Amino acid sequence: MKLDGSIAAVVTGGASGLGEGTARALAAKGVKVAIFDLNEEKGEAVANEIGGVFCKVDVTSDDSVAAGFAKARSAHGQERLTVNCAGIATGQKTVSRKKDTGEIRAHDMAQFERTVTINLFGTFRVLSQSAAGMVTLDPMEDGERGAIINTASVAAQDGQIGQAAYSASKGGVYAMTLPVARDLMNDGVRVNTILPGIMWTPMMAGMDQKVQDALASMIPFPKRLGTPKDYANLALHLAENTYINGECIRLDGAIRLAPR
Ligand code: NAD
Repeated sequence: MKLDGSIAAVVTGGASGLGEGTARALAAKGVKVAIFDLNEEKGEAVANEIGGVFCKVDVTSDDSVAAGFAKARSAHGQERLTVNCAGIATGQKTVSRKKDTGEIRAHDMAQFERTVTINLFGTFRVLSQSAAGMVTLDPMEDGERGAIINTASVAAQDGQIGQAAYSASKGGVYAMTLPVARDLMNDGVRVNTILPGIMWTPMMAGMDQKVQDALASMIPFPKRLGTPKDYANLALHLAENTYINGECIRLDGAIRLAPR
């Protein structure tokens, strides 16, 4: 897919962090960007800055997502690209692999449900409504009609203590990538998923400097946390490269290779 002014894109969670970085990177290429987010103030501000459209959307609601797509499509036409970044982090942020948080025995079902409802069901809802529109488009080069990029987390593969709900929600996004990609490939729609590691975004705000430094020192190379730019670089590559489909790609500074 050639990213230029002929392409419309939707970025959920585009008011902040990884989504904001991706919305800005797409707009810099001339792509017409619609931001879907709950955060009206920040979402409007980012959309205004990049010449895009803001749609106040709650990804947990069918009607809200449908209204968002209606607004985005009336402004820019049917999107060719959807990047799913909306999500929440729940659970204790700990650098210890051994610290028992008591999360399992004193379980909090309301928090578990909220995490899965936003991170997993919200991603599937947006993906599904977007794909339904993409398959109606004329094919471009290589027969491609559109591309969808989801955001899981390395917690889908190696979640730590305190992250059962978050890991389950992201594990669902990871696991649905293949069936969804298989389903949509005959219609020319690609689906890939990014598994970020520890990224420096507002989601991490509130974490004290000592914890940040400890996390950065766990990254084998480069010795820093990931950034929205790192994410946007990969998201744009996945959008542009028609030969990548059904992949789940870690973006984590090789944290798995860290000596334990
Ligand atoms: P962020 O908090 O900076 O941005 C998330 C955005 O999603 C916010 O603007 C928020 O308003 C929006 N959002 C939340 N719930 C929503 C809802 N119901 N409907 C619509 N919008 C909603 O977070 P981020 O760090 O940029 O995270 C982006 C994605 O990356 C999330 O899915 C997160 O789980 C994932 N991720 C982040 C990290 C990290 O270290 N930051 C690591 C792995 C995965």
